[in-house]
Amino acid sequence: MISVCCDVCRKKLENSDYGRTFFYIAHHSICEPCKENLELQIRPTMRTKDPFSIDWYDKLLKDSLDKAVQKGKI
Ligand SMILES: [Zn+2]
Repeated sequence: MISVCCDVCRKKLENSDYGRTFFYIAHHSICEPCKENLELQIRPTMRTKDPFSIDWYDKLLKDSLDKAVQKGKI
């Protein structure tokens, strides 16, 4: 159990559990609601990608997260 801040919404997450209540993606700590919003945001793009590749998805996720961190919101 550790305390971290979400890099997107800046919410302090007390006693967080890595992989359960916060996630570490592309060098950013992200809380569960922000992760869900991020996934919702990229899902339409993901569905239209053909052929789909996990490398492409990782890059999309990372780029979208970088933008979200800069803006302070998803
Ligand atoms: Zn957050």
